[in-house]
Amino acid sequence: MRKIFDFHTHAYPAKVAGKSVDFLDNYYKVSCNGDGTMEDLLKSAKEGGVDYLLVHAVATKPTQVENVNTWISEHLSENVFGFGTIHPEYENIKEELKRIRSLGLLGLKLHPDFQGYFVDDPSMDIVYSDIEGKMPVLIHSGDVNTDFSSPKRLANVLDRFPNLTVIAAHLGGYSEWDQAERFIIGRNCYIDTSSSLWAIPPEKAVSIIRKHGVNRVLFGTDFPLARHSEELERFFALGLTEEENNKILFENANNLLNLHLR
Ligand SMILES: [Zn+2]
Repeated sequence: MRKIFDFHTHAYPAKVAGKSVDFLDNYYKVSCNGDGTMEDLLKSAKEGGVDYLLVHAVATKPTQVENVNTWISEHLSENVFGFGTIHPEYENIKEELKRIRSLGLLGLKLHPDFQGYFVDDPSMDIVYSDIEGKMPVLIHSGDVNTDFSSPKRLANVLDRFPNLTVIAAHLGGYSEWDQAERFIIGRNCYIDTSSSLWAIPPEKAVSIIRKHGVNRVLFGTDFPLARHSEELERFFALGLTEEENNKILFENANNLLNLHLR
């Protein structure tokens, strides 16, 4: 049986999950299909037949950085992996990046729109240069309403940090897929499929995936935005080959994170 790895999920501590989901609904004018808790995330994955999860959380303020990283690390298991968070205004960036590694977190997640900086801002150089060659970074990319995380700015980061392992979320640029094709697709980075397949025609998604190269594409649900069963349904409807499915759903994630899962 093929294993399935969801590279892009979110969960929040129970007391803020409701508020976080409301915020996402309002901000993106969507309707989340999960309640945002770790319990619901695990339930959704189980119902959808998903074996492994990578969980992300984002500190929108520098004061939240340590608590968020500690919270994620407390929820790791055989099947649940995590990325940490950092903020350019946080005081001890290098120390916290070290602590993130020591907590067993495998990479970093950045959300420039929610965290309030341009992805290519020089204040982020300390982060990129510290993790370059050491840990991957998943970066929210694209938002037609702001310029913080535009594909064009992300391309500047790829230019300046050629050995940084970047995963550009949402097929390289949420709501800016044309810009993503122009600046990100085919570049030296990974992309994930999250929060995209409901928004663009399947033919366009397939063309982006193949143009970028199936070895550097990762399946993601962006839970609680989508539940696993519905996102997998959309993914399989793309009609990719069995070999392409295997890579995107499992092998690429397993290799990228060096997990040796079977
Ligand atoms: Zn995300």
